[in-house]
Amino acid sequence: MSIVSLGLHRTVGSLWTGLINKGFTLRNLSVTNSFRSAEAVGQIAEEGDGTSQREIDPSKDRTRIIPVETSIRYLESKAYKETYGSNPVWKLYRRNHKGQIPPQKTRKLCIRNGVISTGSPCPICRDEYLILDYRNVKLLKQFISEYNGEILSYQKTGICQRKYRELLVAIYKAKDFGTITFDVPLRYYDYSEWYKPDCEDHQC
Ligand SMILES: [Zn+2]
Repeated sequence: MSIVSLGLHRTVGSLWTGLINKGFTLRNLSVTNSFRSAEAVGQIAEEGDGTSQREIDPSKDRTRIIPVETSIRYLESKAYKETYGSNPVWKLYRRNHKGQIPPQKTRKLCIRNGVISTGSPCPICRDEYLILDYRNVKLLKQFISEYNGEILSYQKTGICQRKYRELLVAIYKAKDFGTITFDVPLRYYDYSEWYKPDCEDHQC
């Protein structure tokens, strides 16, 4: 009996010590966690202060909103001619990429949180005076093929996916408003199906 009781005492004792140890470890963990979290909060706060104090390169800042009228005047200006000449805005653009073969798709976007986030922003994003709007016809026409009237692909022009979507919207809107004219395909109809010259009152 005495051996059994001793054994029991031992097991109980080991359980207690185990529990106590667990408790300590848990407490220690919780303490360290809370300490770490406090430290992390401090770091985040410091980082937050750092970003707010960090100066943005003025050439990469895109928070300024430029009206379409300014963009239309810019496309007629001497500054535009000196920059692009008679070429479309995408003609001399070349994207930076890793390796020799360029990626099939262009970037998702070039501007994040109002700042240019890449070294080679697309032809629309790099010039802040180029605004995609249905009234800015001279810019939109540079992205329409002169041979078949189709919208040029982003693989040819190199504009990012976001600006490409904006371009599609602007061009469709321009066609709806009539600022861009386009030819509808010629269709031949068999008018005899609707009109018979023998019939006088057009009832038959
Ligand atoms: Zn872009």
